[in-house]
Amino acid sequence: MSFDHYPTDALMQVTHRPAQVFVRGQGSWLWDSAGRRYLDCVQGWAVNTLGHAAPEISAALQQQAGTLLHVGPGFYNDQAMLLAQQLVRLSGLDRVFFTNSGAEANEGAIKLARKYGQRHRGGASTIISFGNSFHGRTLATMAASGKPGFDALFAPAVPGFVKVPYNDLAAVAEAIGPDTVAVMLELVQGEAGVIEADPVFVSQLRTLCDRNGLLLIVDEVQTGIARCGTLFAHTQYGITPDIMTLGKGLGGGVPIGALMAREEVCCFEPGDQGGTYNGNALVCAAALAVLQAVTAPGFIEQAAARGRQLRAGLVDVSRRQGQGAVHGRGLLLALDLAQPMSNALVEALRDQPRGDLPGLLVNPVRPQRLRWMPALNISAGEVDLALELLEAKLRALACGG
Ligand code: PMP
Repeated sequence: MSFDHYPTDALMQVTHRPAQVFVRGQGSWLWDSAGRRYLDCVQGWAVNTLGHAAPEISAALQQQAGTLLHVGPGFYNDQAMLLAQQLVRLSGLDRVFFTNSGAEANEGAIKLARKYGQRHRGGASTIISFGNSFHGRTLATMAASGKPGFDALFAPAVPGFVKVPYNDLAAVAEAIGPDTVAVMLELVQGEAGVIEADPVFVSQLRTLCDRNGLLLIVDEVQTGIARCGTLFAHTQYGITPDIMTLGKGLGGGVPIGALMAREEVCCFEPGDQGGTYNGNALVCAAALAVLQAVTAPGFIEQAAARGRQLRAGLVDVSRRQGQGAVHGRGLLLALDLAQPMSNALVEALRDQPRGDLPGLLVNPVRPQRLRWMPALNISAGEVDLALELLEAKLRALACGG
């Protein structure tokens, strides 16, 4: 396979990428420059809520591109206001600040918590976060993250974060001090390998935060916008965050994130927060189209049904092929492998189709775990095909093929 006509040496090398150059997508399908097709269960890293080239998003972008792209942060635009109103209505939180990414939303959440500490908590600024968490790649969100190795990269790290083990309430309680202002967590740690928060831990954490006057920041960048089977994952846990961040699925492939908070927490003053492109009309129009599709009658139920189908299918394949447990919620799932072979399996699924069978894209989230994050509108037939491709490859690998 050669992609020599697409030189890659002009790009900074920040990650290992396979040789394929993708040129076109449609729904759950991708095509590379050699014309090969792939069933995509990565979808831009849990981003493409409606799959590739979704007609709703395409139409919204075309309409908005010919109407108004951007007026800048110093003015209102209709799309940002409509989107903010929708998100407030759907979440029960009171206000939104739009961002260009998930990391920027979390960076804003950290700033908002620190500002709240200055205003209401005698200058308290420390945020408790969790081992193996992932909140982004800005300096502060890297410091907030518990991803192993992140603390030493790009030293000195931003101060003001204390890490405790995930799902360990006693450790949180012990870490609380006079300088603590907030606790920040993912309800499913996606990048860590799809590790779920324990519902009892989450509800007790909410109570602990309330008792200590701490803000609970829930990072729904990966879990939000119906990825986990409900519009926001926190409703499954029966809690309401004080601050919530969104990204990924909100734009369905168009870069937008959101920082949301309860009214009492919204203490930014003019000049504290902003950004040239934040709330850009084009991306807000796309996000409005995503929300309209996701909140249409039956959409989330369908996505949840596909999630149950994929989970049940993975459990069956795993049992037949001697693999491990299935983790996650909705369409954010992971399969434990019997051997640390996720990279080899992902490569084989992607690069070695047999006959007419397409490639399959899945994520080797850990050496021994595969992550699945397909489009929320993946069809039942496509889920079955993904499972067939997986099982055939596991069987072939077991036979040394
Ligand atoms: N928070 C979580 C939970 C994430 O999964 C990610 C991205 N994987 C981020 C934040 C960062 O989002 P972005 O890459 O858009 O900055």
